[in-house]
Amino acid sequence: MQTTSSKSGRSGGPDASKALRELPSVAKALDSRPFRGLKRRLGTRLTTALLREELDRLRAEIRGGRMEGAELRRGATSAALAGRVERAAAKLAGPSPRVVINATGVVVHTNLGRSVLSEAAARRVSEAAAAYMDLEFDLGEGRRGSRLDHLAPLMGRLFPGFDFAVVNNNAAAIMTTLRALARGKEVVVSRGELVEIGGSFRVPDILSASGARLKEVGTTNRTRPSDYRDAITPETGVLLKVHTSNFKIVGFTGEASIPSLSKVARKASIPLVVDWGSGDLVDLAPLGIRDEMPALKVLESGADLVTFSGDKLLGGPQVGFVVGKRELIERVRKDPLARVCRLDRLLVCALRETLVAYVRGSAFEDVPTLRMLSLSAAQIGRRAGRVRREVARRSGQGERLRVVDGVSKTGGGSSPMGERPTRLLAIRGPDGDAGRLEKALRHGTPPIVGRLHEGHLLLDLRTVLPSQDETLIQRLTELI
Ligand SMILES: *Cc1c(COP(=O)(O)O)cnc(C)c1O
Repeated sequence: MQTTSSKSGRSGGPDASKALRELPSVAKALDSRPFRGLKRRLGTRLTTALLREELDRLRAEIRGGRMEGAELRRGATSAALAGRVERAAAKLAGPSPRVVINATGVVVHTNLGRSVLSEAAARRVSEAAAAYMDLEFDLGEGRRGSRLDHLAPLMGRLFPGFDFAVVNNNAAAIMTTLRALARGKEVVVSRGELVEIGGSFRVPDILSASGARLKEVGTTNRTRPSDYRDAITPETGVLLKVHTSNFKIVGFTGEASIPSLSKVARKASIPLVVDWGSGDLVDLAPLGIRDEMPALKVLESGADLVTFSGDKLLGGPQVGFVVGKRELIERVRKDPLARVCRLDRLLVCALRETLVAYVRGSAFEDVPTLRMLSLSAAQIGRRAGRVRREVARRSGQGERLRVVDGVSKTGGGSSPMGERPTRLLAIRGPDGDAGRLEKALRHGTPPIVGRLHEGHLLLDLRTVLPSQDETLIQRLTELI
């Protein structure tokens, strides 16, 4: 925290200098009764360090004239200092990041952690965290195994005939792939696909960091298969196609399709790599998400390798997949970067459990991301209505709450036009300003994140876990 000192010109007057003199010394404060208890709980070292910081902060507040009169006398006592130290310690050692209630309606919300794991996956993670496991140990033979063996039987069913590699995220998947296949060579990419995707992922940066050289073709709005073909030289290592996840060029446009690029690539014997961003394992068209295509289809359309994230619309942990032709995957797996970015056992467990839901065909029920996206506006409206009735009954302020039509977003640099109709709980602020309510919800425990719109706070229950409804009702009742 930045504090102002007397150097900035203000000196708080004679009252302040007297107060500064009266502040207890570190030794004296540490010896006082309130601090004896703190030292036992926090240890002497941490208590002393925090006390020094709090004294510095207090001095700055006094000098800056931000603390005067009775408040100052109260603040300078050992008990008050101990209180400050206690709060600083709680902040330092308290949970962070904290659990929040996501009432934004953005399902894959990158800033809120993207996907919520299924119950089965969460259970496995907590089990795995506290025990040794046969992560790289073949129990049958009593010798070394591979951590990917835990995923291979499932991936084999989800991508029949193809092999896979998996690393920490999709950015790492692309970088490892390009490094393995095109280090020191050229990678041909359309100018229309040199995008930046949320969380500072820039295609040109990843590409150059992999040791490959970028060869841009086409224009921002139109690129033809012949543009790729004409750019191929003996220096070419990979043709790369990138899903322009979070934006869409409209109007006079044209992009080279995967089948047409595949023809060009095959003829030149150069691998076609497709960064598919949010790789779905199932067709999401029934949910109204039509600009996505399952990752398997990308391979069947002619891509040699496809890369995608595990924590976007797939709904698993943060990982990045590379799937495709065996001999290419072999090279990707052998690249040192694949080792640098390998999964730990918590991720392997969470991922395996998520994949099991897909193999069983229960992903729409078990994987929260898909379950949330599957909810109809009517279903969400019924839940919002129940929350509204309960808050109205308990608070007597029912006239400030309404349930209205709105849209939820798939989010997370997934499908750019990914919107789903929803029903929103709209809360009118006193005097047409819901800003205070929004802030109070955000600052509480657990924090509740919604959005403001025209004097209303809008809460979308699509992304609120059903187990959180009661908490939401209680917090709204208190604050309204
Ligand atoms: C999200 C996204 C990435 C980055 O994936 P991470 O899993 O966040 O590393 C890369 N490419 C595309 C097209 C994306 O949508």
